[in-house]
Amino acid sequence: MNVASLLCDELGKNQVLTKDHPYLAPYSRDESGLGDFHPDCVALCESAEQVSIVLRLAQEHNIPVTPRGAGTGMTGGCLPVYGGIVLSTERMNKIIDIDTKNSIAIVQPGTIVSTIQDAVEEQGLFYPPDPASLKTCSIGGNIASNAGGPRAFKYGVTREYVLGLHMGLMGGELLRCGKQTTKGVTGYDLTAGFVGSEGTFGVVTEATIKLLPLPQSTALLLALFQNETSCSNAIDQLLHQGFHPRAIELMDRNTLMHMTSSDIDLSSHWAVLIELDGEPNTLETITIHIGELLEKNNAIDVIVARDERDRRRLWSIRRACSKSLRNAHQYKISEDICVPRGSIGELFKRIDSIPTPSDLSIATFGHAGDGNLHVNILADSEEATKHIEPFVHALFEHTIALKGTLSGEHGIGLSKKQYMPLEQTPQVIAWQKKWKHMWDPNNLLNPGKIFPDDNGKTFPIASRRCPE
Ligand SMILES: Cc1cc2nc3c(=O)[nH]c(=O)nc-3n(C[C@H](O)[C@H](O)[C@H](O)COP(=O)(O)OP(=O)(O)OC[C@H]3O[C@@H](n4cnc5c(N)ncnc54)[C@H](O)[C@@H]3O)c2cc1C
Repeated sequence: MNVASLLCDELGKNQVLTKDHPYLAPYSRDESGLGDFHPDCVALCESAEQVSIVLRLAQEHNIPVTPRGAGTGMTGGCLPVYGGIVLSTERMNKIIDIDTKNSIAIVQPGTIVSTIQDAVEEQGLFYPPDPASLKTCSIGGNIASNAGGPRAFKYGVTREYVLGLHMGLMGGELLRCGKQTTKGVTGYDLTAGFVGSEGTFGVVTEATIKLLPLPQSTALLLALFQNETSCSNAIDQLLHQGFHPRAIELMDRNTLMHMTSSDIDLSSHWAVLIELDGEPNTLETITIHIGELLEKNNAIDVIVARDERDRRRLWSIRRACSKSLRNAHQYKISEDICVPRGSIGELFKRIDSIPTPSDLSIATFGHAGDGNLHVNILADSEEATKHIEPFVHALFEHTIALKGTLSGEHGIGLSKKQYMPLEQTPQVIAWQKKWKHMWDPNNLLNPGKIFPDDNGKTFPIASRRCPE
């Protein structure tokens, strides 16, 4: 039985990439750097009905199916580890409706997140979730991984904006769940359960998302500090005094040392980027207060964005973090642990205490407002990568000891599944597996993800984390 020809018969040839197709290769990888996993074919679905066909055929013929949005995931979630079909939603990329009266939008799963944001902003509305990948990732992928981003500190993560879903289930059933109202407690919240299920429960074919009024204006400050303690103290003070910025982004000295393109001298500092939004006059006063507060708390310098150009210049420092580290090192492994915000200082101490051989270096940046930090382990030789796994293990143990979690926003996917028992009890894992079994009894939908055993293949960290 040939999977591709089955799909060609039912979907049409233009919607299937076969194994020898020149465009198949990109569907074998994502942004995790875990390497290439070739599917037997790719189904480029154009409607919920076509998703249903793929899921029916897969069930009938016992073929694994891996949903894929834009492939920007950092944990290998969309990699077809057992081959089979990659179900791509990239052609389902329309904004079906923006309902300004009720502040909701109905979107197809392959729509790029920034496209949605731009479209609703033109209508005076606001879709807050802002993963740094927003110009390339899809809303379906964001829903499947419950994506966050800098603005999550004030506005929360994707789950808080998903009101209703249309889902394709294994076997081909289509299910509409949720609501179009911002309140609603009728029955169990299936929608919330689908969000963050990493493409293992069903395939999102349409989503109803909640929108907010577009904030009238924003303000941005960049503060430089001598060390982590001053940084943390300033953030604590800011929050104690009742300010609620929409983003508080921290960059450590090792990260800033890699920023070669900035015109600001960042090299020996720690930095905090603070973004606020609100009514223009109030915002101006608050910005002045915050600037003074940062200076009182030992900021060496506070730069306030005066216009849109300035704003882009300051944000570009934060947005360049990942790329600058990647460009400078052969190997970059990025974790996205999350600790209670008050434990950030202690986390940095513990990171420093992990024995780190001279051929590894560590650079940390991320969302200080909600304790979600990207700890990057950097190496420049194959030999050095042997030290990565023990470092990651120790990092996760410290994170859990501080009542944190393994992943604040990227998910577990393939790359972190073996660490699940560090955080969750066998009982919790067992109940999640029962939940998965209910939606997909034959374990055909995105198999090999999230759970440590699951007959899943494991990948030693040094071999699977190839240069990004
Ligand atoms: C430079 C960079 C910066 C990033 N910054 C952030 C950040 O700030 N915050 C953050 O949260 N993430 C961030 N990410 C990670 C990534 O962009 C997110 O996880 C994003 O949600 C993935 O979306 P995608 O469309 O690329 O999904 P994919 O990578 O294609 O898939 C991700 C997961 O979703 C599943 N999936 C995709 N579409 C569907 C669907 N329609 N139905 C069911 N399951 C589906 C897949 O099976 C997989 O498990 C970043 C990535 C990069 C490369």
